[in-house]
Amino acid sequence: MQISIRNFTKTFDATTVIDDMNLTIRDGEMLALLGPSGCGKSTTLFTISGIHRMDKGQLMFGDRDVSGLPSQKRNVGVVFQNYALYPHMNVFENIAFPLTVRKDAKADIDREVRAIAALTHISELLERRPGQLSGGQQQRVALARALVRKPDVLLLDEPLANLDAKLRLEMRSEIRRIQLETGITAVLVTHDQVEAMSMCDRIAIMKKGEIVQIDTPADMYSNPRTSFVAGFLGNPP
Ligand code: ADP
Ligand code: MG
Repeated sequence: MQISIRNFTKTFDATTVIDDMNLTIRDGEMLALLGPSGCGKSTTLFTISGIHRMDKGQLMFGDRDVSGLPSQKRNVGVVFQNYALYPHMNVFENIAFPLTVRKDAKADIDREVRAIAALTHISELLERRPGQLSGGQQQRVALARALVRKPDVLLLDEPLANLDAKLRLEMRSEIRRIQLETGITAVLVTHDQVEAMSMCDRIAIMKKGEIVQIDTPADMYSNPRTSFVAGFLGNPP
């Protein structure tokens, strides 16, 4: 689903952290919000999810204006860097949770959980508790839980930050594979330019609450519009 943000402004304690932002996330694309710490990436994500309210502006999910809706009434899937799995529930129950809350029928829950577990390659782990899983496995569970109710948009806030280098490489391609297989519209928040370039269809570079350039990785790299953008993309390993 296309997500669009119009004339979005957000202030914390008299400091403007997002300044009149306009951003359209296209249906089915994976878009990176890339920029240095404190530039407003998470604030933007939290606003799409409904955790933060906009001071000013409009947020559309497709044709629907969701600006005034609380997060429970928006169909979003969220994954943070600490996966926030429920330690006392097994993997099946963790993934099922968004459907259990919604009081879906037991047979439907069973079918949907097994389908998303197969897609995320964790079918063998459904009886385990989060404490018995590796970091990569926990992240797969968090992704499955975020996707199980087929959200309008998948929001990923620095999802790879807590993984070691080898696992981070593996999970980059796994998250991208899962995004492409589901066709879900996704936003990846990261301060890692290689992550953004290798995983996303387009990159929006942010600086102090503004988007300074939005382009495909190749166009951004070959044609940076400002020295800030060039500096940010300039040194891929
Ligand atoms: P990023 O995710 O790009 O690192 P954030 O969106 O978390 O940046 O933060 C943007 C700015 O807003 C920072 O200066 C941060 O200190 C400030 N900020 C974020 N959340 C709050 C809050 N709840 N209260 C006050 N200031 C906040
Ligand atoms: Mg952040």
